[in-house]
Amino acid sequence: MTAKIIDGKTIAAKVREELAQKIVSENGQDMPVLAVILVGDNEASRIYVRNKKKAAAEVGIGCEVLEFSDTIGEHALLEVIDELNKNSYINGIIVQLPLPKHIDSLHILSKIRPEKDVDGFNPYNAGLLACREPDAIVSATPRGILKLLESTGIELTGKHAVVIGRSNIVGRPVSMLLLNQDCTVSITHSKTENLSEIVRQGDIVVAACGCAKLVKKEWIKEGAVIIDVGINRVDGKLCGDVDFDAVCEKAAFITPVPGGVGPMTVAMLLENTYEAFKKQQKLKTDHVCQCGGHGCGCHHK
Ligand code: NAD
Repeated sequence: MTAKIIDGKTIAAKVREELAQKIVSENGQDMPVLAVILVGDNEASRIYVRNKKKAAAEVGIGCEVLEFSDTIGEHALLEVIDELNKNSYINGIIVQLPLPKHIDSLHILSKIRPEKDVDGFNPYNAGLLACREPDAIVSATPRGILKLLESTGIELTGKHAVVIGRSNIVGRPVSMLLLNQDCTVSITHSKTENLSEIVRQGDIVVAACGCAKLVKKEWIKEGAVIIDVGINRVDGKLCGDVDFDAVCEKAAFITPVPGGVGPMTVAMLLENTYEAFKKQQKLKTDHVCQCGGHGCGCHHK
């Protein structure tokens, strides 16, 4: 068997194109606005933020980047978030990770208003996802993975999905999403024993561990669907967590690195921002506020 390539680049471009059309046709002068907090001088973070800003502009989403030195304290950062939470012009807030070590990332993320938490990293949104609540804002990478799986046309119900990695930003939320799609989910991690045996049971394998080419052909069930989230650099070349060429001989579908999950992440962040904007617009028109004009961020009728 030679695996079909799941072309994340093309699927993401379609998501962005449809989003751009919706934003132009539905919203006139009103545009969604995303605020991105960037702390410190991490080169990779700068590149990610630049890409997000460019992609936002292309679909008609405003993007304001707020940059801070890595000496900023947690309290000062919380004040920034508080301001953005109250600012009715801002629809989505994300904090580019990683933050400097002296700042408690989870504490910062937990202070973003859940309706503006378009990365879905606030524990409240993670909790909604775990409770299968449709109102959860689901983080971009897992949402993109689901879209890639849907593009294959395979039925997810009842499938055994093996997730490698249990991080808050990929492994856990993607496991919850797959569970909510009625998959039987095995979550594996760095302490898992007999990893290859568990992976071999997977009809779907999501590799998100950051270990270059860890997943071998012998680990794969014939005809499995392989989603490779990993981004690793070996001898200056990008590769995923899956031994791509060999695994292609056994899998039915596989995502490449680059060009698979990566492009979907940015596209789904934009989609999350648009959806947050629409919900906030609806709240403004539906809601008669009790705050008396004292700055809760709502529009008074
Ligand atoms: P992380 O370091 O926070 O978590 C890695 C997880 O993998 C941990 O839960 C750990 O237990 C597990 N793990 C590590 N080594 C393992 C091993 N040998 N066997 C089994 N499990 C192992 O990483 P993350 O933020 O979840 O990201 C994972 C990978 O995905 C990284 O390469 C990252 O760059 C990439 N990533 C890509 C995108 C994208 O848009 N394409 C988005 C986020 C992360």
